[in-house]
Amino acid sequence: GFKSKVTVVGSGNWGSVAAKLIASNTLKLNSFHDEVRMWVFEETLQTGEKLTDVINKTNENVKYLPGIKLGKNVLADPDLDNAVKDANMLVFVTPHQFMEGICKRLVGKVRGDVEAISLIKGMEVKMEGPCMISNLISEQLGINCSVLMGANIANEIAVEKFSEATVGYRDNREIAEQWVKLFSTPYFMVTPVQDVEGVELCGTLKNIVAIAAGFVDGLDMGNNTKAAIMRIGLREMKAFSKLLFSSVRDSTFFESCGVADVITTCLGGRNRKVAEAFARNGGKRSFDELEAEMLQGQKLQGVSTAREVYEVLSHRGWLELFPLFTTVHEICTGRLPPSAIVEYSEKEPRGQ
Ligand code: NAD
Ligand code: 13P
Repeated sequence: GFKSKVTVVGSGNWGSVAAKLIASNTLKLNSFHDEVRMWVFEETLQTGEKLTDVINKTNENVKYLPGIKLGKNVLADPDLDNAVKDANMLVFVTPHQFMEGICKRLVGKVRGDVEAISLIKGMEVKMEGPCMISNLISEQLGINCSVLMGANIANEIAVEKFSEATVGYRDNREIAEQWVKLFSTPYFMVTPVQDVEGVELCGTLKNIVAIAAGFVDGLDMGNNTKAAIMRIGLREMKAFSKLLFSSVRDSTFFESCGVADVITTCLGGRNRKVAEAFARNGGKRSFDELEAEMLQGQKLQGVSTAREVYEVLSHRGWLELFPLFTTVHEICTGRLPPSAIVEYSEKEPRGQ
């Protein structure tokens, strides 16, 4: 019978782990081709070797996921067009700021019957308003796009520690089941939810909350303060999501993509870590500088998401409804000191 061909577009920290998860399943399941292509944004390592060559030689992404074997059936490919051309299942997993450019390059290059899923936590803001990444993919490429989000710190899943995730789908349950099958392992439990917007907004907005949690850590504020930030953040996530899309369900916030991702990211994520350093330096060193120094090429999503959400809020006259989101952006830009996170965020959103 027909076998699906999977390509992973992206090969960073989470992209590499996603390829590993998928590759372990395509070997076991008859309905998929064994080989999983992984598009690599090519770069030259300090040794002078190309990253793609090293991945294909060692079966490891030595830069973004060192020490982990991806599976011999993962094939790294630096040529984007070639990587996607035969695939009928596309998994998008790059930092969100690169997706607009990648989509432009992919117009007319993907198969007509392709199904996509986005693991990307982020949004774009256009003249017409906010555009979620799955929507960007759908609109630019004319294809259906589901999402997978959850409490998923990549390095933990790489060593096969148990976690859960949420697949958000639009209307086709069978397609959702296909994605669940492709990703599920005994240590990675995936639940489908018919709420693409809710799932994707959870994954996107929690990165702003994680920046706030990092500030709290940098100020040595303690557990109660951090729990308060997480609660207020979750409340703003829900209010903002529902203002943008009335279809968003309350129950989505209790899935892995909601409360669980807020918790894990505020405890152990990269956004939290760099925001802590930002606050410890009293805001004197920029996020760009700290990101470059602390993350070895990995990318933060929370700072730009705070800016993007701020644009939406100010354009719609909603700034005062979202004191935590607003304050995070104002601290990131240096307009307010890190300590403002507890001076401003303690207010409840009005009209709740
Ligand atoms: P990452 O943070 O490791 O980013 C590095 C990747 O970006 C590398 O593959 C690099 O080649 C690529 N890159 C750099 N410049 C580029 C350019 N100009 N064009 C295209 N690509 C470029 O990436 P990641 O951790 O795989 O994150 C991807 C998405 O997954 C993000 O939206 C993130 O929020 C989400 N996510 C990450 C984790 C995690 O724990 N890492 C977990 C869940 C979700
Ligand atoms: P960070 O990007 O802050 O590390 O968060 C990773 C994540 O999304 C965990 O689910």
